[in-house]
Amino acid sequence: MFKLSKQSKKSSARFGILTTPHGEIETPFFMPIATKGSVKALATEDLKNLGADIVLANTYHLYLQPGLEVLKKFGGLHKFMGWNGPILTDSGGYQVFSLGNKFNQSRSTVIPDLIGNPEKSKSKKELDPRVSLAELNSRSPEDDSVLNSLVKINHNGVEFRSFLDGSKHLFTPEKVQKIQDIIGSDIKMVLDVCSPHPCSKKQAEVDLMLTHEWAQRALEYHKKHRPRKNNRATKQGNNLLFGIVQGSTYKDLRIKSAKFLSALDFDGLAIGGLAVGEENKKMYQVLDYTIPELPADKPRYLMGVGKPENIIEAVKRGVDMFDCVIPTREARHGRLYIFKNQNSTSKTQKLRGNFYNVINILNSKYKKYPQPLDKNCACELCQNYSAGYLHHLFKASEPLALRLATLHNVNFYLKMMKSIRNNIKTNRL
Ligand SMILES: [Zn+2]
Repeated sequence: MFKLSKQSKKSSARFGILTTPHGEIETPFFMPIATKGSVKALATEDLKNLGADIVLANTYHLYLQPGLEVLKKFGGLHKFMGWNGPILTDSGGYQVFSLGNKFNQSRSTVIPDLIGNPEKSKSKKELDPRVSLAELNSRSPEDDSVLNSLVKINHNGVEFRSFLDGSKHLFTPEKVQKIQDIIGSDIKMVLDVCSPHPCSKKQAEVDLMLTHEWAQRALEYHKKHRPRKNNRATKQGNNLLFGIVQGSTYKDLRIKSAKFLSALDFDGLAIGGLAVGEENKKMYQVLDYTIPELPADKPRYLMGVGKPENIIEAVKRGVDMFDCVIPTREARHGRLYIFKNQNSTSKTQKLRGNFYNVINILNSKYKKYPQPLDKNCACELCQNYSAGYLHHLFKASEPLALRLATLHNVNFYLKMMKSIRNNIKTNRL
């Protein structure tokens, strides 16, 4: 399942292999985000050519569209999107809380177009449209009209409205596992309550209590209903379930959560509720006191992180798995990641200090730029086209701009992860 092969002598970084029903993945790794079963602007073949080991898909989005009946008909997401590698699905909890109240506010802000994205318009305050349990319990039924526009949360689960058509839905810890089984996920996540930032301690405690209750229920369901092991026909056996540590930025709550979840029989543990607006320093502090509480023999996943420097700092603290919209979203806005001072013959990138630049291809200085964006980059863009051509494609709003830029940035992230693994093996990170 998870085999730790090498512990760096320089930091808490580690190299290992995670086995899933659809193959093995070397850790630490990065998961490109295929929210609705496609990494925006890329075909599944592009992902294969880039050498992506795993993709992340969103339970919330796939449940609403195309819906479970379609996914069942196609035998799961792997067949539907033509991807035979591992898939991790999030539980949908984060999306329920961040998008669940959007329909009544402004539909236009959540209908993504080819270039835009719904997450960008989300201010930090909007991240928490729900009310606390205590508040809910103190409301009279007449208040229901007020609550109709909100995400409703109680011990059973969370009720929310579809961001597509405003229809009502209920997610329970058990139902979310069932949905992920229908998707055919290799790595499933538990339904959790992601505390916003900032968050009062009282709220964080309520969120944590529910997160723990729900984690136990999800695990019970998973053990009872998980497909039989060694079922080679469906390749569905041995799918993994991860718990999610919450607790906002409160040290005692994070430690409590890490201890509680570590004692349960999860296949891996995630650290959630970070990268929601806190400073980098705070994020690293949370990792510093949370990770030592997690079992060494299980993979650790830092959800939604992040920038290259965040990933490296987290790897040094012992994190094995990452996902983030940054490389793909930034690409669609013409912001491209390039290694500095790289040696084209070296397979291992130096990752110290400021090891990369982010350039804006829309800048007029690229208008007549005849060279590739990065002559040392092996991606389809840099191998075949000039930076000047990409500048033109963006200026002319050609869809090809999005594909080429996304290919480049995903390639950058995957190459960075490979360098991270090589650096760990040689004790340089
Ligand atoms: Zn490139």
